Amino acid sequence: MKIICIGRNYVDHIKELNNAIPTSPVFFMKPDTALLIRNRPFYYPSFSVNIHYEAELVLKICKVGKNIQKKFAHTYYNEIGIGLDMTARDLQDAAKDKGLPWALAKGFDQSAPVGTFLSRDEFKDVRNINFHLDLNGTTVQKGNSGLMIHDFDDIISAISNYMTLRTGDYIFTGTPAGVGPVKVGDKLEAWIEEKKLLSCQIK
Ligand code: MG
Repeated sequence: MKIICIGRNYVDHIKELNNAIPTSPVFFMKPDTALLIRNRPFYYPSFSVNIHYEAELVLKICKVGKNIQKKFAHTYYNEIGIGLDMTARDLQDAAKDKGLPWALAKGFDQSAPVGTFLSRDEFKDVRNINFHLDLNGTTVQKGNSGLMIHDFDDIISAISNYMTLRTGDYIFTGTPAGVGPVKVGDKLEAWIEEKKLLSCQIK
């Protein structure tokens, strides 16, 4: 199983981090050891003092595919959930400054909490999915899949030109504006529409 993430996929978030709008999708990966399931707590790692949450819609891949055409991409995922692309922003900023990879900043243990997944059939229109993240009961991020620069089909098609997708792979589809730091004691709760699908205590 692998976890593929797209960066810089919402214009409002690109602006808040002063990044350029990419012409093609920006991808990075997390190892399988990043996955955090069943609402288990996230333990603040000792190597960072600036861990950020990034709430993102997550796709679960349901069959093997390579060089997938955009028109068939929707048949390669059957579940949609919400996850947190936990980021050591201090390590990422240092890596960006030096033009170095983001592997440690994005791929550390527990950096990919995911919640309960919903069947794709539950969604009338996957280009109009509302989601939001609450931090200690206050909404800090709000997104809609219609505001993505690269939609689900674009992402699946693009990544499959380079990497074979396999059943059970996860794709994090990017975060909207409102990312920010967490501290020990915080509680993150993530929702798709009116359903709370993920709860994560920072310890
Ligand atoms: Mg992200």
